[in-house]
Amino acid sequence: MSITREQVLEVLRTVEDPHSKKDIVTAEIVRALTVEDGNIRFVMEVESAQGVAMEAVRVVAVEKLEALDGVGKVSALLTAHSTPKPPPDLGKGGAKPAPQGPQPIPGVAKVITIASGKGGVGKSTVSANLAVALAAEGLKVGLLDADIYGPSQPRMLGVSGRPASPDGKIILPLRNHGVTLMSMGLMMKEDEAVVWRGPMLMGALQQMIAQVQWGQLDVLLIDLPPGTGDVQLTLAQKTEIAGAIVVSTPQDIALLDARKAMDMFKKTGTPVLGVIENMSTHICSECGHEEHIFGHGGAKTEAEKQGFPFLGEIPLHVDIRMASDGGAPIVVSDPDSKPATAFRDIARKLIADGIV
Ligand code: ADP
Repeated sequence: MSITREQVLEVLRTVEDPHSKKDIVTAEIVRALTVEDGNIRFVMEVESAQGVAMEAVRVVAVEKLEALDGVGKVSALLTAHSTPKPPPDLGKGGAKPAPQGPQPIPGVAKVITIASGKGGVGKSTVSANLAVALAAEGLKVGLLDADIYGPSQPRMLGVSGRPASPDGKIILPLRNHGVTLMSMGLMMKEDEAVVWRGPMLMGALQQMIAQVQWGQLDVLLIDLPPGTGDVQLTLAQKTEIAGAIVVSTPQDIALLDARKAMDMFKKTGTPVLGVIENMSTHICSECGHEEHIFGHGGAKTEAEKQGFPFLGEIPLHVDIRMASDGGAPIVVSDPDSKPATAFRDIARKLIADGIV
């Protein structure tokens, strides 16, 4: 007989949260528990500063559940949570001590970074479509284009013009398709090559994060530059991040780079919330025939090998590119199409699993 939800909770009540000394159910760390045909899934929501220590607790919880009869797959995801704080009162000055460690962004409940090991795998396309899909589900969503070497979000979301800065300090973000957007691309000319060195880049990014008036957001997605460089590390040190989503195509070489990105997040203590395979299956725009041009399923296998959830597959379809180039992501321009449904399914899964 398969295991019941009550039996699962009973086991989880034997696992202690080292911070509150309560069990992880009573401490309200266990969230979004589902028990289906013996498969168990839940999220462990912890303060971001506890992320690394709580990984050990997560492992204990999973091992205890796996040891039970009638249990299939157990998936427990660690997400770091920061309590939303109201935006600062900019009217009152006063010297404050320099902040230590990762800081929350005022008004923003959760920050999720979208990362990839290498460029061109569709990280920005996935970020834009997930942002509008989450907004369509009723969330207050922000998108920060931190891909400073190739900012593409203004074009993908059909936004142009420089954001206003009424007092030269705060920056008012732009909005389109229900998403609050800020991008380095909006602060410079579209064809201007960015040849900044690391420290300048980081300064600009931190400044932008601090100065933008995001308002109250349920989630801020950050479209990171590709790779595992300084921007990712500095961001993890300075900003409270709930976790990262890694985008990869199914080719071996892309997967190799994706693995490096996952390793980097493990080292910085940033939870990997899941992996998305983009350009998974080619769908012919003429006849609908499906073909695996770059192979198929590699990202899923890699995610499982690393113990991270697989969030879903996005097909390779010319309409995805055309929609992005036209300034309205396919989730907005053709919401019932097969590719749009793939994005919307992932957005719904993120909500259902308590990740956003
Ligand atoms: P990255 O941010 O990883 O560099 P982009 O999102 O800019 O990648 O995508 C690179 C190019 O591939 C863009 O022209 C984009 O429109 C296209 N593209 C991305 N994903 C898909 C897809 N699933 N189907 C068709 N074209 C795609």
